[in-house]
Amino acid sequence: MTTREEELGTYEMLWDCGACGTAKLLGLTHRHCPACGAPQEASKRYFPSDEEKVATLDHVYTGVDQQCAACGSPSAISAHHCPNCGAPLAEGKAVATKGPERIAETSVFSSSNAERDGEVPVPRQGPAPKRLPVALLVFVALAAFAIFAFTRKKSSTLDIVAHHWRMERPIEVYELVAREAWRDELPSTATGVACHEEARSTRSVPDGETCERVRKDLGNGAFKETRECKPKFRDEPVMGTRCRFEAPAWRVARTDRAEGQGLASVRRFAGSGAVRTGLCLGCEREGRVEEVFELEVRAAGSPKTERCAVSESRWRALADGASVVAAVRAVGGGVVCASLE
Ligand SMILES: [Zn+2]
Ligand SMILES: [Zn+2]
Repeated sequence: MTTREEELGTYEMLWDCGACGTAKLLGLTHRHCPACGAPQEASKRYFPSDEEKVATLDHVYTGVDQQCAACGSPSAISAHHCPNCGAPLAEGKAVATKGPERIAETSVFSSSNAERDGEVPVPRQGPAPKRLPVALLVFVALAAFAIFAFTRKKSSTLDIVAHHWRMERPIEVYELVAREAWRDELPSTATGVACHEEARSTRSVPDGETCERVRKDLGNGAFKETRECKPKFRDEPVMGTRCRFEAPAWRVARTDRAEGQGLASVRRFAGSGAVRTGLCLGCEREGRVEEVFELEVRAAGSPKTERCAVSESRWRALADGASVVAAVRAVGGGVVCASLE
């Protein structure tokens, strides 16, 4: 994104005489107070409001003023001796400048001289700046401790109390299903197609500019005003053709379920469960069978039992009444089921 910059003009900074109180003296023109003759103090310069700004005449910018090491007066960078006290300026340093200010093009700048306007600058008060980090540290420490405590494990002897198993088999049927898709994504089997236009995506289109006025302290008693514009964009919908249609698809029609308790009771589903096989409307097929094998265990000294899902081979290898050593969470109990494998 490119910024377009346009110069609007160069204007005088203002300053107030600290010696006699005369206000709104011109930064570039009045190097000394016209009322009492006191030298200008660069640190007292401020931006004027829009209505009181004064354009500089035939302004040639040579650089930021240097500050006299002896008396503190600002003087042009081209000077070799302080026009106020005559001291050599070889050791002078650049005067401090005001930070740039920017404002929406439709707004009006006010004076940056807060003292004159009776506004005492209030130090910024963040939300409890010192205490927040401490609270955060305490929270992080507590969280770390909790994670440590709740993940710490110890070994415990578990009694195998019972064996449970459970199986689920979805039976899918091939049938007409009502769906929606973009026209260019319709399946070849689609029937009863009805389409309409609707927004499919958006594209970014140029939408003018946002402009700001910026004023920059040149450091020599003047400031420069510019207009900065950035291109603006808006989202515009891109239309597409959306269609409702029917097409055959596999959908779960019903689910066969079986469950039991005890090693010897396991029964697997017979056949495929499909009434009519093949690829026709109304044909069926077996979906993915889910098998769950759970051991019911009791930790030594615990009044309650817990269930852990394990692999079928592990489930068969442990008989009812057997004991096994496994991991238990140190805080709050609870068997770590993975340790049973
Ligand atoms: Zn004065
Ligand atoms: Zn001086």
